[in-house]
Amino acid sequence: MAERLYCGVDLGGTNIKAGVVRAADRCQLSEVTLETGRELQPEVVVGKLIDAARQAVAKAGATLEQITGIGIGSPGPLSHKRGVVFQMANFKHWRHQPLVQAVSEATGRPTTLENDGNAAAWGEFWAGAGRDVDSLVMLTLGTGVGGGIVLDGRLIRGGRENGAELGHMIVQACGRPCSCGQSGCLETYASAWKLSLNFVEQLANGAESSLRASWQAGAQITSKQIAEAASAGDPLAQRIWNEACHYLAIGCVNIARICNPDRILLAGGLINAGEKLLLEPVRRQFAIEDWKLVCEGMELAPEIRFASLGPNAGVIGAAGAVELAIEEGTIKV
Ligand SMILES: [Zn+2]
Repeated sequence: MAERLYCGVDLGGTNIKAGVVRAADRCQLSEVTLETGRELQPEVVVGKLIDAARQAVAKAGATLEQITGIGIGSPGPLSHKRGVVFQMANFKHWRHQPLVQAVSEATGRPTTLENDGNAAAWGEFWAGAGRDVDSLVMLTLGTGVGGGIVLDGRLIRGGRENGAELGHMIVQACGRPCSCGQSGCLETYASAWKLSLNFVEQLANGAESSLRASWQAGAQITSKQIAEAASAGDPLAQRIWNEACHYLAIGCVNIARICNPDRILLAGGLINAGEKLLLEPVRRQFAIEDWKLVCEGMELAPEIRFASLGPNAGVIGAAGAVELAIEEGTIKV
């Protein structure tokens, strides 16, 4: 039997990434990145997506006929069952795009669609830092905060198909306003974008910081700079950074209470801050906020650690979603 190959596509606001993953060892064989743009019409974006998939297949030395299926990870809200993306914050013209139909018709390959946070979590479960456990929850700390839940080996999409939006779990009543319309979402404290925004807001209010001069000179303050300044002892950077770690820990406690996974994985650009600056304070704060019930001989708290696939989690997870679709019977082989 010919070896099974899956094509994964990660559709983002700035880039479309595609790659071919070999089923046998879950190894990524090719990688293609194409730029997208906010103002693009949906059919242009879909065309680019198909192009990225074709290029990834060719780069892997394969033909489309050799590809078992194509998996797409996309921001939502969307319907996995219907293969439709309802809306996308980064593409304002998107309304009810039948993405699966368009891609499968153009390529002739069976196609499946997952929320991008779910796909990334599935990727880590399938081929990354969750390979050795049955249950994990992942928080992707990027521009926003994405989430994904795998319990007892199953990807949890939710009855209404838009569950696991963990960046929008409320961690502070009447907290900061979120772009989703709620207040106090985890994302408003622990995303790279909001970290910078919250920091600059404090500077504008007159708070002292070593980054003030560069802000006054018109430079953008990044979460990386805030992490570095916090590490160097800057009091404002430390306050904003510690706040993010604190709310992340509260999010992790909520996750532990709801579904008690073996592992909570942190992913995304923010984890470049490293273990000492991010993981250790989150673990410490988790232990403080966590319940105090103990069970002798049984570890109740999930292990919190970094994900391992880096920026490729989306593509690998989307490819792995093809195998999931085969297991679930929605793609027939
Ligand atoms: Zn929100």
